[in-house]
Amino acid sequence: MEAYDLEARLMISAVSEKSREQFFRDLKLYALGDTEERVEKMTERRIAGEPIAYILGEWEFMGLPMKVSEGVLIPRADTETLAELAIKLLRARKSTAGARVLDLCCGTGCIGISIASAVADARIVLVDNSLRALRTARQNVIRNSVQRNVTVIESDALAQPPMLLGRFDIIVSNPPYIPTAEIPTLDSSVKDFEPREALDGGKDGLDFYRAIIPRWTEILREGGCVLFECGEGQAAKVSAMLSERGFTTACHKDAAGVDRVVAGVKR
Ligand code: GLN
Repeated sequence: MEAYDLEARLMISAVSEKSREQFFRDLKLYALGDTEERVEKMTERRIAGEPIAYILGEWEFMGLPMKVSEGVLIPRADTETLAELAIKLLRARKSTAGARVLDLCCGTGCIGISIASAVADARIVLVDNSLRALRTARQNVIRNSVQRNVTVIESDALAQPPMLLGRFDIIVSNPPYIPTAEIPTLDSSVKDFEPREALDGGKDGLDFYRAIIPRWTEILREGGCVLFECGEGQAAKVSAMLSERGFTTACHKDAAGVDRVVAGVKR
């Protein structure tokens, strides 16, 4: 084993065109303490199919660092469509001061935290029912220094909103929306490693929209807006649910051209 270590070092030293003396002087750049061992463990996890975001423990969303942990969905680039739209809507207001935004099913908190980071005088409330998600979301609030304008609350999106939550200008939500029967067909990196509770949207994938629309939009202010992320092929159905409730709706595409976000304005 010792010999392999030495040989590996000799190879790196040859490839980096350094003399042995230079290489040992710079050893810290290549291997420090248990670096090799840790990289080997990470490599093993990666080979077993685990997503790199869980292995690193952190992933980027809207250019911001987000801690991720087992039991919490990894932030997706698709979801930046929703965050960007919310930021745009806030900035279009006469004043953003005191504007209130609710991030329902917040997971890591990536949507609400990126909004809080972009619009410093808006007030954001992050809600999830998973304690692991709430713990990660709290870490991300600190990681991104947005404690001043973000609050984290435990609540179930499928139930009534808690009393005294107050009213909101914008509700953003990326709820679980994969139809139950499609979960076994997902990529192994998703179905074997990401939390099922963050993916499973019931028989047709729409259970959360069905629960959230009648209950949570009650706490929107007049003229307030709900922004939902949805799965491919679901936008028309989510839009119809909102129209039935008297919302004016619009769909927004993600970078791949998929109708990803449904916006509804309360009339
Ligand atoms: N976008 C995720 C996926 O396709 C699903 C996230 C969700 O259900 N909200 O894996």
